[in-house]
Amino acid sequence: MSQSNRPDHIRLTSHPVPGAKHEYPIAWGAPTARERGPIIGTVSRPQDRNVIGTHGGSYAVYRALAVSSGALDPIRRPDLTNTFPAATIGPFDQWIDPQRIVALDPWGHLVAENFRTEISEGVDIRPSIAITRARLDLPEIQAALAAKRLVADGEFVHASGSVSVVKVAIDPVWYLPGIAHRFGTSETNLRRALFEQTAGMFPELVTRPDLQVFLPPIGGTTVYLFGDVTKLPDHRTKITCRVHDECNGSDVFGSDICTCRPYLIQGIEECARAGQTGGLGIVVYNRKEGRALGEVTKFLVYNARKRQEGGDDAALYFERTECVAGVQDARFQQLMPDVIHWLGLKRIDRFISMSDMKHDALTSQGVEIVERVPIPDHMIPADAGVEMAAKKAAGYFSLDPKPSECTVGRPLEKY
Ligand SMILES: [Zn+2]
Repeated sequence: MSQSNRPDHIRLTSHPVPGAKHEYPIAWGAPTARERGPIIGTVSRPQDRNVIGTHGGSYAVYRALAVSSGALDPIRRPDLTNTFPAATIGPFDQWIDPQRIVALDPWGHLVAENFRTEISEGVDIRPSIAITRARLDLPEIQAALAAKRLVADGEFVHASGSVSVVKVAIDPVWYLPGIAHRFGTSETNLRRALFEQTAGMFPELVTRPDLQVFLPPIGGTTVYLFGDVTKLPDHRTKITCRVHDECNGSDVFGSDICTCRPYLIQGIEECARAGQTGGLGIVVYNRKEGRALGEVTKFLVYNARKRQEGGDDAALYFERTECVAGVQDARFQQLMPDVIHWLGLKRIDRFISMSDMKHDALTSQGVEIVERVPIPDHMIPADAGVEMAAKKAAGYFSLDPKPSECTVGRPLEKY
């Protein structure tokens, strides 16, 4: 067992030996994975670490439970046999621009091939991206086939209604100087806020300025690719894209207070059609529940909206969120374009979104958006008129920008 795992010895923070060189330096934005260097967030060989935080985002806490209960050996290494990507993505020019991608490791799916020697020598280097293949089976897509909005082609959309995809899971890897730059603040200010707002969970944020990469304990991103992914590097390929932020209540359970699942499904249908007609469809799903304020905050806001004088009102939609959470939205789309850069995209032909924040984040970082596609009115659920009217009033993109008549939602007693 390594020193840090001695039960009588707790390491509160780490300090580099003055003047010592890092064994595994990180040169963010370097032209190859080996020149950039591996991302090492191991907790079992502290001398190898070159980042703040550890692997797996928030799941590190579950790993701690597995270790504390004796179910997991804390020094165990993953066996990466046969885990390599099921489709090729990259490398792209964007990967070697240190300011273009700052919130994920562009080489994160290729660690097993790029650092085979180090891994075989026992260095704990883990992938932060995994790429596999799947079939999606969704009732709305079957209905789209029945209604002849989609047709089976036998390759991407099957007669059963299932859809073939490549899917990619991405854990966040933050290059702190780049994140600070993206948010228009200093790295010192960013590190201090991260340290204080996590109640000192990561002391190295303030004690180790030499460590510039942070593995934050937050949810990651999933990408679903529809069509022939070998067309990704060809800039003539027509790209249809939906960037969706998690809404468990609607996405999974079909709650009718918002438009999330209908819009997600519209995105999937549009992307499947793009994929089967020679283009590529891309759905990006970010774990940013409740505008990244969390589901507890979200449900509190629902109650505050429904119980306010006059009932759930579009005019007060954003205000109620701010009353509970202090901000209207914490998703901060500034980091969202990184995944689009990682896919090598410079243009989105059809952007399935009404969000100005997402649109502006992409265009301000050099991604051209040709056409914006709003959600059709007939897909807006019964209780979601308030959300839609409030968003249109706030300037969200719409083909019909006048707020809808139905701007008062269902009261709590009527569920
Ligand atoms: Zn929702």
